[in-house]
Amino acid sequence: MNCSHPRARTIVMSVPTLQQLASGEWQLSCAIGGHHVFFRAEMPLYAGPEPFLSAFLLPTMAMRRYLTSPVPVCETWLRNSRALRARAADWWGFSSGGILAPEVQAPPHADVGTEAHTGLFFSGGVDAFHSLSACRPRIDKLIFIEGADTTLSDTTRREQDRRLLQSAAAAAGLDLVIIATNLREHPLFRRIGWWEAHGGALAATAHALSMSLGAAIISGSVSMQPHGSHPDLIPTYSSRRLRLDVYAGGVPRWEKLRTILADPIALQHLRVCWVHQTDGDNAMNCGVCEKCLRTLLQLECLESGVTHGLPTFPADRLDERLRRLKWIPPHVAPLWRHIAGQTSLPPSLRRQVCQLLKRSERIRRSPLRMPPFLMDRYRHLRAAWSLHRHPGSAG
Ligand SMILES: [Zn+2]
Repeated sequence: MNCSHPRARTIVMSVPTLQQLASGEWQLSCAIGGHHVFFRAEMPLYAGPEPFLSAFLLPTMAMRRYLTSPVPVCETWLRNSRALRARAADWWGFSSGGILAPEVQAPPHADVGTEAHTGLFFSGGVDAFHSLSACRPRIDKLIFIEGADTTLSDTTRREQDRRLLQSAAAAAGLDLVIIATNLREHPLFRRIGWWEAHGGALAATAHALSMSLGAAIISGSVSMQPHGSHPDLIPTYSSRRLRLDVYAGGVPRWEKLRTILADPIALQHLRVCWVHQTDGDNAMNCGVCEKCLRTLLQLECLESGVTHGLPTFPADRLDERLRRLKWIPPHVAPLWRHIAGQTSLPPSLRRQVCQLLKRSERIRRSPLRMPPFLMDRYRHLRAAWSLHRHPGSAG
């Protein structure tokens, strides 16, 4: 939207710059509201405004401010952003704000990559492997974002993620593009929750990679509630040089897990954990958090014994680990009750699941008697859940 608004309270964006670092990596950076934000990868990145506008449009709207771009913006992106803004207003009440940008003097971005590939955002989770399996013929690259569901300062975890995902990509015969960003550390970006903001972060990353990408696919989540990577929202981040789409939004997790079972690469590389309750352990998945255990149980329901020896999970007994889980938060209890109702679940595991549901309910009904360590854990899980329930994270 090219517009003027004489009384607009604006947030100023500097001219995006691309530089090659001493490490050989390329860094696309910009200052938004005086705070530095970057994307960094081992390939040249697209130094246009759309990566930054995609990430910061919704937070700007939530603040009822205008984001000022010093350079012309792709007309297609601006046209699509009207639909994006209308949807955000309808869903979340972000009723004001927008983009202020110079009029286009000449067709911008005539340098659309001749090798316009299709990339799939890939975290190694259930959603990502399901999309990879279904969309493999049209995918050229896998994309992993560092700084999305792990912190950039956690170099050990980053190295583990890299090794695992590079191995998965090689097994699938695809290149893995790793791109790091500090978006989540930016104070303006953090003005709205990750639940609403993550679609803009994924779109921004895809735009940054659009020197070689012509299309990017985001794996849909089970939820069709309004969220940042909803199938109705993501396409509205598209520009003339880049098309964005969601694959398999609303598809039940059980259905995706069936695909995983038929895919040896997925079973060898599955990465679902973002809690990592066993810090110091080298396992990709801690195997003891609610998400890890729920995923393993769902796999057991579909094929008894399949979780024995999964290389990315700890090797000790599943029923023992279930016994050690103190409780589950109320918002995931329906998923666990559904697991408990599966006749294919081995009786010893079903017994543990039922006991877990009972002790969780007891704790829920007695919040005042909840021990402090459980209250802390509950707060931690709630915060982590709200931050990470999106397709771009380990799903
Ligand atoms: Zn875990």
